[in-house]
Amino acid sequence: MTKKKTTFGLRLRTRGGAAIQKRWTRIVKQMKVPHKCPSCASPSVKRESTGIWNCHKCGFKFAGGAYVPSTKSGLASTRTKVTA
Ligand SMILES: [Zn+2]
Repeated sequence: MTKKKTTFGLRLRTRGGAAIQKRWTRIVKQMKVPHKCPSCASPSVKRESTGIWNCHKCGFKFAGGAYVPSTKSGLASTRTKVTA
C-alpha cells in the first residue's frame, strides 16, 4: 500500500519536526483554497503577499490575516463601532 503524501509543507521546506510540518501544511492548504471576496462575493480572492489579499474578479484589494483573509481578531475589530 502506498500512502500519498501532501507535498505543501515539503515543497516549502519547513524546518523542524513533523508536528510543525503538519501544522504548516494545514495553514498552506487553507491559504490556497479560493476565498470569498467581501466586495463581489465571488471566490476569487488570492493572497498577494503576507496579509494582502486581492480579488481577481473585481480587483478589490484588502488587508487581512497573514494566511487567511479574515481572522477572528479582524472580525472583532470590524464589528467594533467607534462611538463619538
Ligand atoms: Zn471581488
